[in-house]
Amino acid sequence: MSSHPLEPSRAEMLAMTDAAAQALASFVDGLPEARSADADGVEPLVSHLLGPPGERPGEFGPLLERLQEAAGKAYEAAGPGYLAYIPGGGLFTAALAEFVARVHNRYTGMAGAAPGLVAMEQGVMRWLCGEFDLPDTAIGVATTGGSIATLSALVAARERILGDDVAEGTLYVGAHTHACVAKAARIAGFRRAAVRVVPATPDRRLDAEQAARMIAEDRAAGSRPAVLVGTAGTTDTGTIDDLPALAELARREDLWFHVDGAYGGFFRLTERGRRRLTGIERADSIVLDPHKGMFLPFGTGVLLVRDHASLRDAFAADADYLQDFDESVDLPDYNDLTPELTRESRGPRLWLPLHLHGVAAFRDALDEKLDLAAEAHAALAADPHIEVGVQPDLTVLTFRLRDRPDDDQRRWLERANATGRVLLSSTRIDGAYTLRMCILSHRTHADRVREAVDILRDAVNGPPGRPS
Ligand SMILES: *Cc1c(COP(=O)(O)O)cnc(C)c1O
Repeated sequence: MSSHPLEPSRAEMLAMTDAAAQALASFVDGLPEARSADADGVEPLVSHLLGPPGERPGEFGPLLERLQEAAGKAYEAAGPGYLAYIPGGGLFTAALAEFVARVHNRYTGMAGAAPGLVAMEQGVMRWLCGEFDLPDTAIGVATTGGSIATLSALVAARERILGDDVAEGTLYVGAHTHACVAKAARIAGFRRAAVRVVPATPDRRLDAEQAARMIAEDRAAGSRPAVLVGTAGTTDTGTIDDLPALAELARREDLWFHVDGAYGGFFRLTERGRRRLTGIERADSIVLDPHKGMFLPFGTGVLLVRDHASLRDAFAADADYLQDFDESVDLPDYNDLTPELTRESRGPRLWLPLHLHGVAAFRDALDEKLDLAAEAHAALAADPHIEVGVQPDLTVLTFRLRDRPDDDQRRWLERANATGRVLLSSTRIDGAYTLRMCILSHRTHADRVREAVDILRDAVNGPPGRPS
């Protein structure tokens, strides 16, 4: 036994780690056969779990089982059939890196406290800045997700373009821009009315000409246009805005050009994606989500900014109690570049998978998703009962039953999902209920995508799954 109740002995550590590793290996092995969503018996489990912890120690084995049971009542977001919303997957090797980093428990708010781990994170960020052709002045920081990265970008933009005088500042977003941008603008101190929604072109891209007209009108009326937001892959349809036109407009009008690449940004690693994302290299800030496009477990976003000074100007803070930190290493202090002081070390979870599997494995996986989306689009388009949306820019496809009301579309989705083999979701396109499929998990391959297409075709008029 160990000497302190909060410190397991070496033997206990090894036994617990081994038990967890065994359980996780079985979980990953079982993913191909796992149901795509499981809510059976969730009510008694939830009421049990809402209870308080006991005073006396519990037993690891049963507690681990409870933890797995709790995780099991969920959408199977780690499995190959997860085609809803924006999938990620959850790389085992990223979780493993995280476990190691967590036990070390290093502080990365100040580089001097853990230069190795800060360098590990910065190595990945420099590589990303290179992939996006940003200049030497650029810097990246890892965040907890795309929404928080967006908030930091808008605060930096506000400081740079407006200074303290936010009142008349305006932002320009598209009709299909992610809701986190308007939310971030609110938190960053912009008025609700400051978020100007530019209409979309018929192919659902932010209309740069309309944006130019709105900017001119706003200026004439005394507003201060500050930020233009382009999207590199919308959540609804995966559509990429005309980034070169938006970059040009932002340059001409002296606006901060922000690109939301939370879903689509990592396709930059592929040849096709690189071409389709042309113009992103002119952004002042880019948001990426490794927990989507790099298949990491949820909780990792990235913000890249063109000029590192813009982050420093927005977030630098000095405090007397930090005076002893070693400033000799040439690495950034995240405390000066982000809203966080104490922060987890987010480098290892990115670094280990990239170095262990190699970058080509990520490029190839993303390339495969582009192929799968094109194949599924063609297969669905060949069915006379199904009306598909335009050829996808990336890996989101949209489709509906031809000439049928919304209720029929919803029931079609329910029948497909009730098979337990796939989980699809829906959105509204021009007001009409529309199904969508997003292919992004590293575990989704041709067999499951073909199965999804078969399920959808078979479910047009009745079962596969039970409901309707
Ligand atoms: C997911 C997503 C976001 C929000 O990122 P989170 O990591 O969920 O906070 C923003 N924009 C787009 C296009 C997204 O797909």
